[in-house]
Amino acid sequence: MDFTLSPEQAALRDSARDYLAKKVPLSLAREADETETFPNEIYRGLGDLGWQGLPFTEEYGGSGGDAFDEALVVEQLGYAMTPLAACFLVTVLTCGKTIRDVGTEAQKQAWLPAISAGTAYVSYALTEPSAGSDAASVRTTARKTGDGWRINGQKMFCTGADMASVILLIARTGGPGRDGLSIFLVDPETPGITIQRMPKLGLRPYHTCVVFFDDVDLPADALLGTENEAWRYTVASLNRERIACAAMTLGTGQAALDYAVAYAKEREQFGVPIGSFQAIRHRLANAHVRLRQARLLTHRAAWLEANGLSSTRAASMAKVWATETCVDVAGDGMRVLGGYSYTMEHPMQRYLRDALIHPIGAGTNEIQRNIIAKELLG
Ligand SMILES: Cc1cc2nc3c(=O)[nH]c(=O)nc-3n(C[C@H](O)[C@H](O)[C@H](O)COP(=O)(O)OP(=O)(O)OC[C@H]3O[C@@H](n4cnc5c(N)ncnc54)[C@H](O)[C@@H]3O)c2cc1C
Repeated sequence: MDFTLSPEQAALRDSARDYLAKKVPLSLAREADETETFPNEIYRGLGDLGWQGLPFTEEYGGSGGDAFDEALVVEQLGYAMTPLAACFLVTVLTCGKTIRDVGTEAQKQAWLPAISAGTAYVSYALTEPSAGSDAASVRTTARKTGDGWRINGQKMFCTGADMASVILLIARTGGPGRDGLSIFLVDPETPGITIQRMPKLGLRPYHTCVVFFDDVDLPADALLGTENEAWRYTVASLNRERIACAAMTLGTGQAALDYAVAYAKEREQFGVPIGSFQAIRHRLANAHVRLRQARLLTHRAAWLEANGLSSTRAASMAKVWATETCVDVAGDGMRVLGGYSYTMEHPMQRYLRDALIHPIGAGTNEIQRNIIAKELLG
């Protein structure tokens, strides 16, 4: 396998890196974190560059890239500002691609051009109070009424719900287990929906919410894809989300390492830069090795996905390694910066707080190890 970037891929990566370095300096990411404000203008600007349109064809405002291109862009977003990358991941790669793959023409026309333009946000509502890792045990119900569906239930950790243009909801339409689930496109303004923010440790500009559905009436055409087929779509979208999650945390981990390296060259103790001490040098060298491994695993998973090959195990491997590497590199960065890492003046604490969710979200790393072990052991 040759992972040399084509001239187009290298240009995409470089233009993403240069654009974000200009538009999302550390001061902006810090302010967004401290004020818990999502940078809508920046997100819309990315739409003008065609990034949100990568998975879509021109007729839906898309720019026609593939999973590998997406991974390159998400890595750069993760480098600049993890919550921006997370929003891109959920709206475009998890939800937008599901609408692309199973939506009716009307649903695609309604949402894909706006997603491509960066003017629509989609929130993903799968997790419930008693359906976490056991995602197929969803209890939220969608009952057929005369002319549509009535939804009742509660969703947890629905990220971006409070700014969503539409919520992609997984609800039970049939019997127990994975065969009784369907997906709906839900207008968050529909009567009977209550959205409450959950204060949290990291990813603070991109709010995570509890969403209550109390006798929420939806039209018949809110159903996305075939009734009772949601599990199949969910497995495919979670797989893609894991590759993107790996790319995002690879970017954040690289940002943490670059910051720690620059600090180690500048900070002097005992009359020399701390980067001359072997204890610091080895910590940084180990982080560099682990990030290189994470990049190889991520690019391999993205390449398999882009080429229509089975990427399940590769996606889980990339997700496990990249997300845990990101947490460890940011933790090492805290040690390299010493006491200053603990102040808000330096971004290391934010890299760490933003990193800590990713071994948990998109299917915990314990579940990823179960997937890998199942392929190994049956
Ligand atoms: C900030 C944040 C954002 C999120 N965003 C969204 C979102 O937008 N949409 C959405 O639907 N969900 C979202 N989630 C939910 C997330 O996907 C779940 O938290 C995750 O799937 C784990 O579920 P749980 O928290 O209920 O943990 P549990 O399933 O209760 O797991 C608890 C522990 O048990 C372990 N465990 C459980 N089952 C097994 C098993 N079979 N084998 C080994 N270990 C096991 C887990 O790995 C974990 O360590 C978000 C969560 C957070 C914190």
